Amino acid sequence: MVADVLVVVEGDGYEVKKMELEIRKLEGDEMEFVLSDSNPAFANALRRAAMREVPVIAIDEVEFNANDSAMYDEILAHRLALVPIRTPLKGYALPGECGCREGRCPKCSVSLTLKREGPATALSGDLKSTDEGVVPVSGSVPIIKLEKGQRLELTAIARLGFGKEHAKWQPGVVAYKYIPVFELNEKACNGCGACVKACPVNVIELVGKKPKISDIMLCTMCKACAEACPPKAIRIGSDPTKFFFRVESSGALPPGQILLKAMGALGDKLDEFSKRVKKL
Ligand SMILES: [Zn+2]
Repeated sequence: MVADVLVVVEGDGYEVKKMELEIRKLEGDEMEFVLSDSNPAFANALRRAAMREVPVIAIDEVEFNANDSAMYDEILAHRLALVPIRTPLKGYALPGECGCREGRCPKCSVSLTLKREGPATALSGDLKSTDEGVVPVSGSVPIIKLEKGQRLELTAIARLGFGKEHAKWQPGVVAYKYIPVFELNEKACNGCGACVKACPVNVIELVGKKPKISDIMLCTMCKACAEACPPKAIRIGSDPTKFFFRVESSGALPPGQILLKAMGALGDKLDEFSKRVKKL
């Protein structure tokens, strides 16, 4: 469990608020956590920052030396751009920030070459990079099927970029839902068990003739239980201060890093905002 101190704007001023972040799952490219003592504005800002403001490397330019395949150069370039590429945490500058004019120097770009002749299927694993830390996350993404004698030869330039510019630079998918709240009017409930039968995800059980939720996180808030209850004793609501987040990385960055960098990006924006406000 991790606790963090964050600054939020509430009403007319600023308030230092303690939000809690409980990691429930962290396996490979997937992460699930619960954010508590927060609010919908902050949860959504975090989600948007994670998908739009965290830079990752993607193929941005492709030079074709030969393309005898059935696909146009533009379609192949688009496919290549969507191949997730591992992004080292440090080492590359954003184009425009390294000082070179074309965005092709070794500080801000990586070159990947592909050479294949049919009959074969050109795969992402056929891309040979100039940096062994900047390679496709998976080597088995099919790019194009080549018939006998067809050649594909290209050089791809990969650069850092932001998801807000193009989806190819999105580090993954970040989504959240409100934590459901199951309210039971104990006086009205007659213990008939209709809610148990109605629940499509089977999270309600009868304990001492009263319905109880076994795992609230599995509740999809479909309200089938409330509708099925003859005395209308159930109300399904949501807690606006508690959010269940799910981060699914493309593999470019570990999910924890996506989250940390998103928080950093939000912090930088607030710092910048505060500097500008002071100048007024
Ligand atoms: Zn450069």
